[in-house]
Amino acid sequence: MSHVVRFLTTDDGEAVETNEQGDPIWGSEWHLVNSFGDAHRTLCGGEVFGFGEGAAEFEDKIGKITCDRCIEMVKFFKKVRL
Ligand SMILES: [Zn+2]
Repeated sequence: MSHVVRFLTTDDGEAVETNEQGDPIWGSEWHLVNSFGDAHRTLCGGEVFGFGEGAAEFEDKIGKITCDRCIEMVKFFKKVRL
């Protein structure tokens, strides 16, 4: 379980389209939150959100990553040897 986020609006604060279930189409995946450094970003896209950065509305929770790109990046980093 990880700190994950999904977006309800775009960066410009515009509402995203929803499907019949009312789930946002864009941003409906749960992305891993990358809190490294001075801002919160999604791991895959690097979008900055929250804490006065950007206008995107979002939900966050402790849960599973469902974004394919985030999952691919986590797998990549797991292979890195230090
Ligand atoms: Zn992602």
